[in-house]
Amino acid sequence: MVGKKSSNRKVAEDVIRFLDQHLLDPTPANYAFAFLYTTQNNGLLRKMVDDITDGGVRLTQGEVNEMMVNSADDAVPMPSDAMDELQSQLRRQALTFSDLATSALSHTSAFNRDLAEGMEQLASGFDVADVLNAMREKTMKVERELAENQKETERLRLELDTARNDASLDALTSLANRRCMDGKIREAFERCGSITLGFCDIDHFKSINDRFGHAVGDRVLKVVAEVLQSELAPYPVARFGGEEFVALFPETSDADAFVLVEKARIALGERTFRVRDTDQPLGQVTFSAGIAVTTSDPQQALKDADSALYEAKNGGRNRTICHRVTA
Ligand code: GH3
Ligand code: MG
Ligand code: MG
Repeated sequence: MVGKKSSNRKVAEDVIRFLDQHLLDPTPANYAFAFLYTTQNNGLLRKMVDDITDGGVRLTQGEVNEMMVNSADDAVPMPSDAMDELQSQLRRQALTFSDLATSALSHTSAFNRDLAEGMEQLASGFDVADVLNAMREKTMKVERELAENQKETERLRLELDTARNDASLDALTSLANRRCMDGKIREAFERCGSITLGFCDIDHFKSINDRFGHAVGDRVLKVVAEVLQSELAPYPVARFGGEEFVALFPETSDADAFVLVEKARIALGERTFRVRDTDQPLGQVTFSAGIAVTTSDPQQALKDADSALYEAKNGGRNRTICHRVTA
């Protein structure tokens, strides 16, 4: 048990050292990233990080985000995988509570022995006050240790809750992630029997990355996420992948969803984007969107919304197309 505890501690220390070394914020996503790096001996992630940091170069947050979300390469861990790792690590940590509980139990039985000993001492004429004082001190010690154990359990429980929450959020934009949205879609469909989906994809996003760098691309993603979330509220929006977002409109007609998505598209088009450091204008950032409604199959609605999005791209981008069911 001691060996396991010390190996857990070593992993945690390596993770923290990695975060310190690269001046990365202690976010759950960064912890997960550092955890994967420090526990992989030969993995692709390890190789990518070592290539970048060769010669003592520090990793940037943008590079970390990119490695985490670069879905083009399945071999690179996605945030959800990393979160799964984090969750199982936390689950393992929670198990160490049973160690603490066991140690509390052994204290309790030691206390019982002390009680019996105290009774014997009283019977053989020891000073009552001395015996009671000694027993009181021991009781207080046991109480303190049990309280500590309880605090530790509570801390672990909170950590688990946080990790579970983070496993459903996209680390860059804090929107729901794809896995979470899939669940929301299923749940809304079961509840309402009719849902409309909006699939939005930023136009020519690659060229923003190419011209201004990935850190600027990341900031654009965050702003687009904010605009979608605020314009489409209270309807949920998720980051579905790289520069793709999906909005869910339960019990809403495709015509009503169309009006809302158009409002968000126009609001984004009115935003002025500039590179923070140089004040250089980025030009207009726009998205195209496809909308589809279903009363029978949410997965089909997703495909239909995607094909409507494809039409919007082909039609010149910066527009919304509503998929009309012809059958
Ligand atoms: P289109 O108008 O046809 O959608 O063109 P596009 O350039 O937006 O689409 P494409 O699929 O060619 O490129 C998407 C780019 O998004 C490629 C990928 O590097 C980038 N990307 C994906 N995820 C992230 C991310 O988290 N951060 C940044 N900065 N870029 C990302
Ligand atoms: Mg795309
Ligand atoms: Mg795009």
